[in-house]
Order: sequence, then structure tokens, then C-alpha cells
Amino acid sequence: MHESCGQCTPCREGAGWMWRIMKRMVTGNIQSGEIDKLLDLTTQVEGHTICALGDAAAWAIQGLIRHFRDVIEDRILQCSDR
Ligand code: SF4
Repeated sequence: MHESCGQCTPCREGAGWMWRIMKRMVTGNIQSGEIDKLLDLTTQVEGHTICALGDAAAWAIQGLIRHFRDVIEDRILQCSDR
């Protein structure tokens, strides 16, 4: 997010949105439905920017969800049980 030069709206705005959701995800302060919202957000950034920074930010999150969705969902459940 801090490396966005701000030229493309999807990167300038999307990187911040993705970062804020990811930050809440770390603390478990997220609903399971937000995983799909986050995934959808990455597809709105991916391929819609001038340079590769937008893609790089989106792809990292897409990979995380693709390979570790079950871990993310478990963490959300654990945090909601507290
Ligand atoms: S994708 Fe590249 S050019 Fe576009 S705002 Fe992000 S850093 Fe700037």
C-alpha cells in the first residue's frame, strides 16, 4: 500500500482496502463472508493497473486464500469463540 504511487485508482484505493481487511484478518476481527469479498477485491485490482505492483499485491492475497482458506476460516472460528 505504501509503495503505490497513486496513479491508478485500483492500486491506490484497492491496496489500502486489501491491507485493512488483511490487518483485521490477523487479529481475527473478520467475518467468514469477507474472505470472498477480499478475493473479489483482488480481481478488481488484478489486470487493471499500469504497472505490476497492483497485480503483485492482488496475487499474494489470491495465493493465500487459494492455499490456506481452511486455516483462515479456522482462525475466524477460534476468534469468534473467545
Ligand atoms: S499499479 Fe503501479 S502505476 Fe498504478 S498506482 Fe500502483 S504503483 Fe502506481
